[in-house]
Amino acid sequence: MVHAPDQALDDTTRAAQHGADLVELRVDGFTHDHNALARVVEESDLPCIVTCRPDWEGGQYQGDEHARISLFEHLAQCARPPAYIDIELAAYQRSSDTRRRIDRLVDHPGQVKPTSTGLILSSHDFKSRPIDLYQRVEAMAAAPACRIMKLAWYAKSLRDNLEAFELLASHHKPTIALCMGPFGLPSRVLAKKFGALLTFASIEPSAATAEGQPTIDQLKNLYRWDTITPTTRVFGVIGYPVAHSASPAIHNAAFDAVHHDAVYLPLSIPPEYEHFAATVGAWLDATDLHFRGASVTIPHKENLLRFAHERHANIEPLAEHIGAANTLVRHDNGSLHTTNTDCSAAIDSVCHALGILHADLAAQRVAVIGAGGVARAVVAGFAQHGATVVVYNRTLEKAQALADRFNGHTGKVVATPLDKLCDSWGQIYINCTPLGMHPHTDATPVPDPQKTWGPGTVVFDTIYNPTHTRLLRDARAAGCLTISGLDMFIRQAALQFKLWTNQDVPLDVFRRILTDRLTNSGT
Ligand code: NAP
Repeated sequence: MVHAPDQALDDTTRAAQHGADLVELRVDGFTHDHNALARVVEESDLPCIVTCRPDWEGGQYQGDEHARISLFEHLAQCARPPAYIDIELAAYQRSSDTRRRIDRLVDHPGQVKPTSTGLILSSHDFKSRPIDLYQRVEAMAAAPACRIMKLAWYAKSLRDNLEAFELLASHHKPTIALCMGPFGLPSRVLAKKFGALLTFASIEPSAATAEGQPTIDQLKNLYRWDTITPTTRVFGVIGYPVAHSASPAIHNAAFDAVHHDAVYLPLSIPPEYEHFAATVGAWLDATDLHFRGASVTIPHKENLLRFAHERHANIEPLAEHIGAANTLVRHDNGSLHTTNTDCSAAIDSVCHALGILHADLAAQRVAVIGAGGVARAVVAGFAQHGATVVVYNRTLEKAQALADRFNGHTGKVVATPLDKLCDSWGQIYINCTPLGMHPHTDATPVPDPQKTWGPGTVVFDTIYNPTHTRLLRDARAAGCLTISGLDMFIRQAALQFKLWTNQDVPLDVFRRILTDRLTNSGT
């Protein structure tokens, strides 16, 4: 957004430093000084797209059309004119005078005066996919002066991205097809996979000119734009909400570390099963997308299992037993596999900390605090290995239901109200509630740990944000051995990574990125 010539030039320099190839100057709010804008275009470190978006197409320009086209005519006289100018299809179609004046400025087969500027004809819908999307495409394709077609609309679901990919792949002319809003990120990151002319990224989050636009740093360093090719495999974390998940940071870094041609995205799907099944089904069916798997988190772990049944996937027996899965794998031959890596990760975290084998778990007395999704995976794992488990929960009925489900399979599982926790029965205590999680870091499920625990007790908090919860700090002060939820999170992610890539991930890559991320978020 151009607010002043010097600011605009500084921004183009920063964009170039961040790795941009082209810069769009949005001049909507700065149209009064044509000479100043001409200087920006001429002195910019990067070739420019100049756009003066009117308010009727989501921009800020409120002046008249004649003056707007005059600005472009002025810029076309520059010694170094804009690489492209962007005009809305609606404006171009509406007035023969506009069309005639624009056609004179841009390079096209009928042009008599030499010019290097290309015309981008654009169409934006800030509410949803336009019902006449394909008519708009055809109109752009049919306009001889239009060098590039740009279509952007507000995505109502992740499925909108698939249509953007189809538009790109059908390629009448060089095309930009982007979805706006929180569901539109895949269209922005994967644009290159489908041959888009470009994607847009902002210098910093506050400078985004459309909702859902990533920053250049995210595009280049998190999603590794430069490595994306038509055959790049696609993975993601499916949840709702999912924007703040740490999984894209760790999995993309791990793909990079082992040189695996893949990219990992946050994939937001609303909670209902119908949304999950329709979206994941459509993504799997889009063969050119190479969607090869996903981490699945709240609220979709049960949905994944149901979907796996409907799609006749191979289902890990333990995931079936738990009633929830967190990992989807699609093999190159099209077959699907689902599993629950939370369970193995929790068991491995405890065995690693205690230096014991899975077989040794049969001798352990384990207190699980909470009876939600994570508790279910933890109880299933310990019960399967023959441990004796007590489930403490605020709502006793839920603890009882959990105990009934897993009691007697190998180990013994009983339910107890949470307020009975203060005894010293257990050898291992595992917090599976959100008590103590950011931002409520003063909370703890065990207010009086000195009475409950002593040296020799193992305390495991499944929370990983923050890494050192109040529960773990108190436990350490009481002399206990402690295990952080970070360890479990890293292990469940590493197991997923192995299933997708058949490669072991360097755990220190995951640990470093997560620790940096949690430190930088101030937690
Ligand atoms: P969930 O299904 O919502 O279950 C939450 C459990 O916590 C329920 O049993 C609930 O009791 C109890 N609870 C909630 N608020 C409470 C309170 N104020 N006082 C007492 N009990 C309370 O959640 P989840 O999916 O199991 O996740 C639980 C935690 O696990 C998360 O907060 C997260 O930090 C952690 N987690 C860790 C990993 C990892 O890899 N390390 C992965 C996923 C989750 P009621 O039954 O009475 O409602």
